[in-house]
Amino acid sequence: MPTAATKILISGASIAGPMLAFWLSKYGFDVTVVERAASLRLGGQNIDVNGPARKIIRMMGLEETVRAANTTEIGTQFVNADNEAEATFSKDDPNGLTQELEILRGDLVSILYEASRDKADYRFDDYITGLTQDTNGVDVTFNSGKTERFELVIAADGIRSRTRKLMVGDEPMFNYLGLCTAYLTIPKGPTDTNWARWYTADDRRVILLRPDNKGTTRASFNFLLPQDEYDKLTPADYKPLLKEKIQNAGWEAPRLAREFDTNDDIYFDGVGQIKAPNWSNGRLALTGDAAYCPAPVTGKGTTLAMVGAYVLAGELATHAHYQDAFASYEKRLRPYVESVQKLPPGVPWIVYPKSKLGVFVLNKAFAVAASDAVKKLIGLFSKKDDKHAEEEAEFDLPEYTV
Ligand SMILES: Cc1cc2nc3c(=O)[nH]c(=O)nc-3n(C[C@H](O)[C@H](O)[C@H](O)COP(=O)(O)OP(=O)(O)OC[C@H]3O[C@@H](n4cnc5c(N)ncnc54)[C@H](O)[C@@H]3O)c2cc1C
Repeated sequence: MPTAATKILISGASIAGPMLAFWLSKYGFDVTVVERAASLRLGGQNIDVNGPARKIIRMMGLEETVRAANTTEIGTQFVNADNEAEATFSKDDPNGLTQELEILRGDLVSILYEASRDKADYRFDDYITGLTQDTNGVDVTFNSGKTERFELVIAADGIRSRTRKLMVGDEPMFNYLGLCTAYLTIPKGPTDTNWARWYTADDRRVILLRPDNKGTTRASFNFLLPQDEYDKLTPADYKPLLKEKIQNAGWEAPRLAREFDTNDDIYFDGVGQIKAPNWSNGRLALTGDAAYCPAPVTGKGTTLAMVGAYVLAGELATHAHYQDAFASYEKRLRPYVESVQKLPPGVPWIVYPKSKLGVFVLNKAFAVAASDAVKKLIGLFSKKDDKHAEEEAEFDLPEYTV
């Protein structure tokens, strides 16, 4: 194990960064976290802590804290243009969207930060601009003009990480999946309930409205966009594009269209996966979305970020040499990442029908899947309602004794 004085710099304070900071400092490393934003970025929608991530949260003593921050969502309804539920999946349904530990992304970021802030040196409003490594360490320059030497540097700064480029080169790694998403928080309306409501419109569009525990509603608008059109987009195009795409979508589209005019906190991005060929280069390494973003369509981005950070810290704590630790981290995690990144055929296009008939057929398919008979049939084969079996089956989480 490296000595307790080993200085490690982490770039990014969202999910992967604070998780890594928690475990590294627990193992005795000297940890600094640099975050580009002036404070924690607490935006975003419902995410869930599932599979091996739930086990890690339990090991950190945070399961009840996460449970207490539950979004209050009781399940998902697939609704038609008249807001009638065509299919309903309750929270207890192992095949539904709503999971047991459903939490707002911002609440989870806060919980992980609070759990690690006393043990690590967090620095906001700064970022890495240069990295020069030699046999004994890494000289880091920051945008603030500061320079400092660390023994290891880890990028946990997300799908659009620029630190990744400084670490492993600028080979294109973002694989666009043909889908764009806008996330925004909107005032609660009279039709909002404790159900998530999923509405499929024609022309390959989906609107999702979900309750939160803050008295507001979390909205997302999703639509397919070909690669060549996506490649031409600049930030100035986002709002006009959203307003154009939501026209005549029906249901609560006018409500969202008004928000696109007035809401200043819209997070818009193409949905894609990161497949970095190497997760380390000498004393520099990647984790979380920066290394292997699986895309929100998998529902596993947060889980992979948490598991990856935990494994990386454990491998560093249990190997004498960082090269062996980085190699072992990648060897353990890559098969799991690759299995999550393997999308079923037709995803995401299959749930984005072009015609009104396609929408009708899809809603009927959801209704069949939600029917008691099919649920019983699936229940015969599914183990998803056995949480411990799910945790074990998904990934063999190592327990590090340090
Ligand atoms: C504001 C925001 C909202 C999101 N909303 C959703 C959502 O609604 N649903 C969903 O599925 N996923 C969402 N995500 C992505 C989700 O958090 C990740 O997919 C997943 O949890 C993995 O987390 P991560 O820590 O690897 O990366 P991220 O969560 O992307 O965090 C990266 C962090 O690094 C910081 N950063 C970026 N560049 C630098 C730099 N050069 N130097 C230092 N710090 C830097 C960012 O400010 C951010 O805090 C959101 C991410 C952000 C940042």
